[in-house]
Amino acid sequence: MSLPFLDLKRLNAAHDEAIRAGIARVIDSGWYILGEEVAAFEREFAAYCQARHCIGVADGLDALALILKAYGIGEGDEVLVPSNTFIATWLAVSQAGATPVPVEPDPRTHNIDPARLEAAITPTTRAIMPVHLYGQPADMGPLLDVARRHGLKVIEDAAQAHGARYRGRRVGSLGDAAGFSFYPGKNLGAMGDGGAITTNDDALAAKLRMLRNYGSSIKYKHEMAGVNSRLDEMQAAVLRAKLPSLDADNAARRRIAAAYLDALKDLPLQLPQVADGAEPVWHLMVIGTDKRPAVQAALTAAGIGHLVHYPIACHQQQAYAGQAWPPLPIAEALQHQVLSLPIAPYMSTDDVARVAAVVRQALS
Ligand SMILES: *Cc1c(COP(=O)(O)O)cnc(C)c1O
Repeated sequence: MSLPFLDLKRLNAAHDEAIRAGIARVIDSGWYILGEEVAAFEREFAAYCQARHCIGVADGLDALALILKAYGIGEGDEVLVPSNTFIATWLAVSQAGATPVPVEPDPRTHNIDPARLEAAITPTTRAIMPVHLYGQPADMGPLLDVARRHGLKVIEDAAQAHGARYRGRRVGSLGDAAGFSFYPGKNLGAMGDGGAITTNDDALAAKLRMLRNYGSSIKYKHEMAGVNSRLDEMQAAVLRAKLPSLDADNAARRRIAAAYLDALKDLPLQLPQVADGAEPVWHLMVIGTDKRPAVQAALTAAGIGHLVHYPIACHQQQAYAGQAWPPLPIAEALQHQVLSLPIAPYMSTDDVARVAAVVRQALS
């Protein structure tokens, strides 16, 4: 039997009744943009993230770019970003008109290395945008210390880490503001695009509510040159149906991850390492091996889905060609070694055993 990398239909089947009821509620309401569903989801997700405010937006990329714009970060400003991330982190900085400045990761966790931040700071640095990559919180304690010393904003890219905790606190409440994505495959996924910002900064929240809606808080009165970037009522209803199960879904991912770590522990692989104080939510199960092509071929032959997160480092993408990037050997090495195995709340430990057996065979 084949095992796809991620089966969205199966994932959402667990919430089928609640999702259909939510969508029916929106249809019956006759109100489709910025209504009660979005307002309720914003309250519920803010509470979940232990943050004062949540502002729904169109997607994760917009969430990050709008935070930067609301803080007035743009042309001539630099933002420190991980060298190893999904390109949306970098594109958010570029979309705001600012310059992404890559900082290498700690090779053990693949998350931005706080010890390397200071060397990248210049007089024009305005913010740090750590990513809680693969669902594991970045090392926020030392990172926040550096930010405080240099007067920098900290904007969490929490697109892969809904529900993760760092020293007991949820991501989304650790920095000045955070961007979330509800792309269908994320730990909390919609049935289309969606995103949100969480923050404890009252002034920022008020500004973002206007920015996302044509710079307006009163209909046809426009206080700033805003954009149209709204979470819609349908997606909010889907997210409300799934949010109550997020902790249980993340617990199931944790069990699957633990089963993988146990089943693969004696193999010559780089297994994911969990840092002190971090409680990951295992958005992805990423192993590292120099024999990646052999493992990929064996998984494909066995009908097991796999992906690479990410095959080309951001600074080597054509989108960022022609700029003088510093050497980024860690990101450049990782792109040839990393391999993501299937992980999802619906998986069984038997599934894990099957995948592990194929990996073991490929490496023998
Ligand atoms: C998914 C993702 C985003 C962007 O989210 P979209 O909703 O697809 O725009 C940003 N950063 C990271 C790390 C992501 O994984």
